[in-house]
Amino acid sequence: MIYIGCHLSSTKGFAGMGRVAGTIGANTFQFFTRNPRGGKAKNIDPEDAAALMELMKREGFGPIVAHAPYTLNPCSDKAHVREFARMVMADDMKRMEYLPGNYYNFHPGSHVGQGREAGIAMIIDLLNEIITPEQSTIVLLETMAGKGSEIGGRFEDLAEIIAGVNVKDRIGVCMDTCHISDGGYDIVTDLDGVLEEFDSVVGLDRLHALHINDSMNPVGAHKDRHAGIGDGTIGTAALKAFINHPALKGLPCILETPNDLDGYAREIELLRQ
Ligand code: FE
Ligand code: FE
Ligand code: ZN
Repeated sequence: MIYIGCHLSSTKGFAGMGRVAGTIGANTFQFFTRNPRGGKAKNIDPEDAAALMELMKREGFGPIVAHAPYTLNPCSDKAHVREFARMVMADDMKRMEYLPGNYYNFHPGSHVGQGREAGIAMIIDLLNEIITPEQSTIVLLETMAGKGSEIGGRFEDLAEIIAGVNVKDRIGVCMDTCHISDGGYDIVTDLDGVLEEFDSVVGLDRLHALHINDSMNPVGAHKDRHAGIGDGTIGTAALKAFINHPALKGLPCILETPNDLDGYAREIELLRQ
């Protein structure tokens, strides 16, 4: 089974997202747990969450991916910014238990000049405060483009973070095609090589979800500008080869391309062909 979907607005609630996903040919999706720029969250409606879980089961959905606000910085040089990230993520862990057994993806953060080692240590500390052995949610580190002082632009960054996390079966990785391409991993001419490198550095068993985006910039640009499927430097053929790679079978594929729902429906159909 191939699970494809896209990032959806959560304004119509959990079950609402499930219904919208169905209308665009999606059998997975991603959503922000709260305002992506602020951090404010709506109260969870347990019935609405249960209705989504029921719909997902009935329609044969794959696991879904919640995305933390992208303004969080778990390795900021300011204590109050790190504390805010910890608070938001700890609260999100509780909220995710209304949708048990799914994924929670976040951007590891930017060390803003403190150095890679210091940044990684702060991310590990935060994760060890929020991840409990009781939770059913697996927290995913997103592969990043390596813009500025971003952590996660190299697979080694992610491996070092995972090595420091205590609850090993609740931590994993979400691989973003635009980000790894911008990070310098050439999935157009050397997909096997890139996945072998990921396997030897992090381990493919840690990979739980995929973000499928084309990139506006060439390999190694460290920019992070998403393009529509076929409108960027990766291209439709390479992205199809990516989602059909035997090593990535069964993982939820989430589009985060600049699109409206009609555009997402077209891209989902294109990738399913
Ligand atoms: Fe992201
Ligand atoms: Fe992404
Ligand atoms: Zn991005």
